[in-house]
Amino acid sequence: MIVGEHKPIRELVAMIEGYDKILMVGCKGCVTVCNAGGKKEVAILASALRIARRKQGKPITIDELTLDRQCEPEFIAWLDDPIKKNDYDAIISLACSIGPQYIAEAFDTMVVLPGLNTSFMGGTIEHGIWGEYCAACGSCEIQNFGGLCPITRCAKGLLNGPCGGSVDGKCEVNKDLDCIWELIYKRMKKLGQLDRLGQKIAAKDWSTSLSGGPRKIIREDLTI
Ligand code: SF4
Ligand code: SF4
Repeated sequence: MIVGEHKPIRELVAMIEGYDKILMVGCKGCVTVCNAGGKKEVAILASALRIARRKQGKPITIDELTLDRQCEPEFIAWLDDPIKKNDYDAIISLACSIGPQYIAEAFDTMVVLPGLNTSFMGGTIEHGIWGEYCAACGSCEIQNFGGLCPITRCAKGLLNGPCGGSVDGKCEVNKDLDCIWELIYKRMKKLGQLDRLGQKIAAKDWSTSLSGGPRKIIREDLTI
């Protein structure tokens, strides 16, 4: 999933300066799973902003709405009605940063504000803790590494073995992180694939990554 976290309240209060009527829009997708932008977070954040503005002596109206997803035009269209019927000064999107861009493109005279910082693609490690697992390089190679990704999970992105700096299985760059190369070694040992660690992995072709510009997938079977 895409993992994000909401922006600090002070930053959001500064962002809505001068606006008196706002629609805050959540998303029931990834950001609900990571407790950043679902219906519950919309309610909490909207309340916090109302309180902050009341304390400033500048009360604000914030309506709340949570879409099934903000990364699909059919759900963004659900905003048509509320936007037509209300004279909103701005919309705060609590989706990953795809959401505010979709809203901005669909409603070209509407001010759209990002309520979240989109952090990474990852998963739940334990309740309240998420980790990054994939950098969307566009050409997955984890079959060479026992199913684990050194591109994302090695601080140096090393493809041909460890840097030699790890201590007690922890990464020399960040002691809170496991050295992924130690995990790769252990896993490939269990799989009986240690001999494959000797093979030289060619330099990565980054043209499939974001370095080649924004990417697009066109599925012919779905578009005809
Ligand atoms: S190799 Fe690329 S696609 Fe596969 S997990 Fe790593 S970053 Fe993601
Ligand atoms: S200690 Fe391990 S994870 Fe950290 S940079 Fe070196 S090889 Fe990569």
